[in-house]
Amino acid sequence: MGLQTYWTKRDFKKTPEPRGSPRKRARTGWSFVVQKHAASHLHYDFRLELDGVLLSWAVPKGPSFDPADKRLAMQTEDHPIEYGSFEGVIPKGQYGGGTVMLWDRGTWTPARDARKDLARARLKFTLDGNKLKGGWMLVRTRGGKYGEKKADRTWLLFKENDAYAKAGGRPIVDVAPDSVASGRTLDAIASARAHVWQSKLSVKQN
Ligand code: MN
Repeated sequence: MGLQTYWTKRDFKKTPEPRGSPRKRARTGWSFVVQKHAASHLHYDFRLELDGVLLSWAVPKGPSFDPADKRLAMQTEDHPIEYGSFEGVIPKGQYGGGTVMLWDRGTWTPARDARKDLARARLKFTLDGNKLKGGWMLVRTRGGKYGEKKADRTWLLFKENDAYAKAGGRPIVDVAPDSVASGRTLDAIASARAHVWQSKLSVKQN
């Protein structure tokens, strides 16, 4: 997809999100990040690095270690790699306005050829993150339930049955709700915003 849609949706004079650019050089290991995003509705943005961008899905309930939990994952626009280190506040009125937390991050490894898997809309992979581990699947659904218009971007994210799988119990989003980068809660990130912006202003003033 590239970053055109990402850029079109945002005004970089008004949001602290990175503008970013597609990465051309090959990197060792592919990154993944899950950002907890308190926008109009709380959701988890699940992002996998591939071909210089972060492929992205919005997962309303967040990932689950229970293989029986098939989580709705709506594919969204590709994001720049730099987005994977963004934690902060998107101003009200801007696209996706609200607090963004780095909920988990690490590396991912496709089980097969990732590009072929994506073309077949059936991506099998392992995650090595701080919170998320083991085998996972992203599978595109075939229309119906969520309407024809959205059918092409409606996927399900679920855990594979392996040593990391866990049926029942408290969901990982509740067991480990805070930032993997800073240990902060959503509220702490939201209230730190004023401080960060003030420090930038005071640099200019001094
Ligand atoms: Mn989001």
